[in-house]
Order: sequence, then structure tokens, then C-alpha cells
Amino acid sequence: MTSSGVTIGGLVGTRWKPALSVEVTDGIAIVTFDLPNESVNKLNRAVKDEFVALVSQLERDSTVRAAVLISGKPDVWIAGADIEEFLELKTAADAERLSRDGQMLLDSLEHLRTPIIAAIHGACLGGGLETALACRYRIATDHPKTVLGLPEVQLGLIPGAGGTQRLPRKIGLTNGLDLILTGRNVRGKKALQLGVIDELVHPSILRSVAIQRAHEVAEGRRKSESHKGGVKGLLLDANPAGRAIVLRKAREQTLAKSRGHYPALIAAIDAVAAGYEKGAAYGFRQESRLFGDMAMTDVSKQLIFLFFATNELKKDPGVDPAQYPDLPVSAFEPLPVDKIAIIGAGFMGAGIASIAVQHGSLVRLKDADHARVAKGYAAVRDVLKERLTKKQITKIQYSDYMALVGGTVDYSGFGNVDLVIEAVFEDLAVKHQVLRETEAAIHPSAIFATNTSTIPISLIAQASSRPDRVLGMHFFSPVHKMPLLEVIATTKTHPQVTATAVAYGKKLGKTVIVVNDGPGFYANRILSPYINEAGILLDQGVAVDIIDKALVDFGFPVGPITLIDEVGLDVATKAGKIMAEAYPDRMAPAKSIPAVVAAGRYGRKSRKGFYSYDKEGQKGEVDPSVYALFLERGSIPVATSIAPQSNEPPKWPEMPAVQIQQRTVLAMLNEAARCLSDGIIRSPRDGDVGAVFGIGFPPFRGGPFRYMDSLGVKIVVQRLEDLNARFPGRYEPAEILLEMARRNQSFYADEHV
Ligand code: NAD
Repeated sequence: MTSSGVTIGGLVGTRWKPALSVEVTDGIAIVTFDLPNESVNKLNRAVKDEFVALVSQLERDSTVRAAVLISGKPDVWIAGADIEEFLELKTAADAERLSRDGQMLLDSLEHLRTPIIAAIHGACLGGGLETALACRYRIATDHPKTVLGLPEVQLGLIPGAGGTQRLPRKIGLTNGLDLILTGRNVRGKKALQLGVIDELVHPSILRSVAIQRAHEVAEGRRKSESHKGGVKGLLLDANPAGRAIVLRKAREQTLAKSRGHYPALIAAIDAVAAGYEKGAAYGFRQESRLFGDMAMTDVSKQLIFLFFATNELKKDPGVDPAQYPDLPVSAFEPLPVDKIAIIGAGFMGAGIASIAVQHGSLVRLKDADHARVAKGYAAVRDVLKERLTKKQITKIQYSDYMALVGGTVDYSGFGNVDLVIEAVFEDLAVKHQVLRETEAAIHPSAIFATNTSTIPISLIAQASSRPDRVLGMHFFSPVHKMPLLEVIATTKTHPQVTATAVAYGKKLGKTVIVVNDGPGFYANRILSPYINEAGILLDQGVAVDIIDKALVDFGFPVGPITLIDEVGLDVATKAGKIMAEAYPDRMAPAKSIPAVVAAGRYGRKSRKGFYSYDKEGQKGEVDPSVYALFLERGSIPVATSIAPQSNEPPKWPEMPAVQIQQRTVLAMLNEAARCLSDGIIRSPRDGDVGAVFGIGFPPFRGGPFRYMDSLGVKIVVQRLEDLNARFPGRYEPAEILLEMARRNQSFYADEHV
């Protein structure tokens, strides 16, 4: 047996370390990818150069019969391309070249005399999966950290290193398109089922099995098989008419779902189709060309911005020590949070409990009586059961997590919790009482966080004897799905308390923004005038579904009226009242929403709102009886998809979607600008992330501030002034916008007009 260490890349000295190291044992080269000074392996220019050197080294070395490509990182095989490098791409031609280079490298890897076996443990995404697909054989581990996928469309791009060609050929057109168009990850087991990988093993034997397979592949005793999605898939793939149907359906469904806002989806289908129609070489060329085009789209720039912004927030401790020169460094260290208590086992309390246990927290769940505690406990169980059914957690994990929740109707056990999250009714008196009782039961160093959605934290903290340990942790519903957490600090909150809430929020997997105190904080404050305007449009006789459709067309996941039905009309009305008291000139409530709630229609939860619902709560059409609650008798809105109830000529003028969009969205943009100048948010970045992840602002527009930059602040001001002339007071442009328009400024440096 021979053993030798070889280093690729021609490095000298200690200043530069290679990412790839090669050790040859018994004719098999073990290539370990371990990018120095980085937590993940990514494909940057330098790494690609090392791969080129590796290919020629393997080509020359006749003693090496096969190679195994394995990662030196604990949980990542190859996370993908280095997205920082995308920012340097100035033209479509630059991006096309980057893609061509990647394709050529992987082509040489694929056709190397020496077969390469991908030994995958951890994330294998984007360029990582494209690399794996160019290997001759793929083995992955059955560990939950091993995920495979092509997430490029989530950045407004398409796979650019052969993914649109190799993946469908490997796993069939239908399954290939599904992975490419959703950008979703699959675990090892699913990857094996689909044929993305050839073999699934336990992490402890990955290396040895890979070496074994390297010998077998080199000797021609084993090879990777293509899966084409069964007999049906095979027939479809082999038959041009069948393929045409699959591709046409994919285009139709994609356009209907994306409403044309995500051009990369269609580009990806085009690239896949090109390879099938005119052969692989043409397919690869089209992939590069389309990658180049997509890299230059505004959509891609906005999505990449959001990617970086969320990454930055992951590293952001939420407090700036420079603002507290008198405090020692230790005062900013987050405190450990292991045991928590949640007061209010309702919708939000149970939701928070369900994620807390999944991150190892011991949870005391308190409510006023046993029945409500039991209801909360059942809600936690439902969330976990769903994860179990979807095989996202194991049975053992399920029981371990459930064992971490304990119910109570008094404050027993509160003495040793690190953090209390209050999620009782949105009522100041109730919150005050709960705060007083809690402080009497907890350790003086424990933190009290309220999940209020609108009441200023400083008002709640008035009942506290330790206001420095009080803050807001505003989760969004449904808690287990919504990615944002707003941490709200008052002027009295100690920075360590803020840092602790931020660290704990991140531990729960949330993207956290720290905002200052004020009615509605950030997300609900900007949502309020938007929803309100939708209510005013209803008052004016614009149909429910016309309003919703206009804003879904704009890019929101659901329209504002559907959102009210989801949140609950009672909750929305209460919040609206608080916001109207704070900003009466621009948030005076519409008539329609209170009128509907007064009729006992709370939305989905009461199975009756603006829309009709079946017994299971499944949403149906607009319930036409709703109009009579707020419109004058006989005046059925014209702009509705519901058949008119009478033959009378319509009374209400039809409203074009663009007018609906401008009236609602500009109200939101104007309020976002005010939140920035009022110091509610720290930066446009936080405002953009908060709006996209908290209230579903269209990601392809980057967020309210990026969107204002792309329109141009001057245009925003002009439109606001036009609207303000029609609706005096509601659209008074924020001072900061007027100032920026005068100075011709933008919120971000890269969007200068
Ligand atoms: P909910 O009515 O579903 O739950 C409130 C729970 O608090 C009930 O189970 C109630 O019995 C319990 N409760 C009331 N007084 C109590 C007391 N003194 N001691 C113990 N338990 C008590 O309400 P929810 O939707 O979960 O909202 C809770 C809080 O979260 C509110 O402040 C709300 O503004 C906020 N919030 C709600 C949403 C949302 O979409 N529902 C989103 C973010 C924040």
C-alpha cells in the first residue's frame, strides 16, 4: 500500500493555504475540500483555479485510478458559489463568462480519465450540487444536515454550471424541473429516491464506502444509473410530444404562480428545454446566456440584497456598545436562556412554545385555567405532529420536545426561569396585572418580554419595578412559519437584555431586527395605513376581490382583505384603534372593517368574514352578504367577480389595479420613511428585511426602501403629493422624503439616481 501527500495549487509558505488537499492511498486520491478561514466551503475564483490544477494533476498521474471528493467542514460539503463574486459582475457578458468557466471546469471533471466519487455530508447546494452531478458517482449521508438542492432561483438566477442540463437528465424532466423551479432542498433519503444520489450511508462509513466505490467504479464494476421518474417519466422524457406537454404545463403554472415577477423561473425552463430540443452543447450555451441575462435583472439584485441583509443580521448582536461608553464589554454579552415561561397559551403563546421546545428550551406554559392550558398544549402538539408527519423530526424528537412543555395555572416554577414571554390579550390593564404578578414570582435578573403587537412597551413597562429588564419580543403569526422577530427596546431597557432577546430569537431560527418603541413598532405601523386604505377602498365600494387581486398582482402573498380575515377582524380592529389614536390624521379607521366585526364576523376563526369558509376553515369566494354591512342598500360593487344580485346598472366606478396599488402601497412607503426618520428602525436595511419577512412585502422589490430607490424618491414624493391633493392629510409626504427628493438622494448607495 502506498501513501503520499500532494498539495495542489502551488502554494509556498504559510500565508496562503489551499482549499483542496489530496492524499493518495492505494491508487485512490482523497481530495478534501476545506476552505481556510471560512465556516463553509464555497466555490470562488481561487478554489476554481485549484480545481483546474487538480484536474490536470489527476490527468497526468497514472498511479491514481479514481478520486473521492470529500469535505473537511463538519456540516457542509459545498454550499454553492461565492455570491460576493456575483456583486462584481457588471454586464451580462461578465456573468455569462463566469457561467461558461464553471461549465468548462465541471465538464473537464466529468470527462476526466479518473472517475471522481462525490462523498457528500452536509449542505450540497447550487454550484455544490452541480459539482456533485459532474462526478461519476454520488454517495450522501442520511444525516439531517445533508441537504441537496439548486436554490439559484431564490436569488433570481438560474443554475449556471450545468445544473439545468445535468439534473433533468439524471432524474427526469418533471422531477428536475420541480427541484430547479422551487429551489427547495431535499434530504439524503429523498435525493436517493429521486436519483440525485446513487447511495445513502451513515456518516460514520461515508469515507470508507466512498473509497470502496472508487475502486469499483474505476474497475467498471459499478456505475451511476439515471432515474427518469419511473416508467411514466421515461416515456415522457423520451418522447418529444410528452416533453412539450411537461414544459408547457411548467410554463403555465409558473406564470400563474409568479405572475411574471420572477423572470428566472421562465429562463430556467427555457434552459432546460433548450438542452432537450437541440442537444446538450446548445443547452449549456443557453444556460450560460440566460444566467448572464438573469444576473443583470433588478429582481436578482433585490433578492441578493436580501440574502446579504439577512446574513448580516445573523451576525448583528442588536446593540452597539459605542452608544454606552460607560458600560464594560461584559454588559453586552447575551445571558443564557435555557428555561422560559410563556403567559397566555393562546394562538401566539402556544406558537412560541412550539418553536422554543424544538430549540431545547424548557417551557412553562401558563394560562388562566386548565382548559386553556390544555388547549395551548394541544396546539403545541399539533405543530410538532405536523413536523413528525412530514418526517422533519423523528418520533424520539417529538416525545423529547413534548416532554419540555409543562402547563400551569399559577406562577409555580417561575422562580428559576431566565425569560418570560407574555402573550395574553391585547389589553393594557391585563398586561399590567400580569407584569406585576410575574415580577413578584421571578428572579430579579429574569427578563420580561411582551409579545404585544401594538401597545408601546414603555406603557406596559410603567407597571414594572424593573423596567430595565422589560422589552418587546414581537413574533408574527403563525410563529412556526414566519421568519421575523422584532425585538423592541425602550429607553430604559438594559442593552444586555436586548442582546439576550436578540440572541435567543436567533437561536429560535428567527431573523431579528431591533426596533425602538412606538405604536405598532415597525411592521404593524407600516401595515396599518396600508390596511386602512384597503378599508377605505371598501367604503368607497371597490370590491373585496378586486382589492386583493390588485395587491397580489403587485407581489404580496395575499391581499389586504384576506390578511384581515386571517389575522381576525377583532384583532385588526383593536390594533387599528390604537394606531388611529396615535396617528389620527392619516390612520382614521375605515367604516367597513368595524361594521363587519360588529356583525360578529371575525374572519377565518369564526368561519365568516369578508370571504366564506367551510367547516374546516378552507377559504372560498367573497361572501356577497358582507357588502350590505357597510354599503348602502342595493349598491353592489361593480368591480367584483361575483355575479351581481340585481340587474340594476352599477353605481360604483371601476377602479384600475394601479390606483389601488398606489393608494395602499404609497401609504406604506410613506410610513416606512417616517419610521426611519423617527428612529423606530436603525437602517433602511432593517426596514426592508422587516417588511419582507414580517408582512410579506414583495421580495423581488427588495423592501419598501429598495423599492423607493428603484422608483426614485422624487417620483415617490410626486405621487404622494398627487394623492394628498385628492385625500388631504392622508398622504402628506414624510419630511425625510421631501428632503431627499430636494437633494436627489437615495436610501442605498448603489441606487443613486
Ligand atoms: P389569544 O386570545 O389567542 O390568546 C391569549 C391567551 O391569553 C388566552 O388563552 C387567554 O386565556 C390568556 N390570558 C388572558 N389573560 C391571562 C392572564 N391574566 N393570565 C394568563 N393567561 C391569560 O391571543 P393571541 O392572538 O395569542 O395574542 C396574544 C398577544 O400576542 C396579544 O398581545 C397580541 O396582540 C399579540 N400578537 C398577536 C398576533 C396574532 O396574529 N394573533 C401576532 C403578534 C402578536
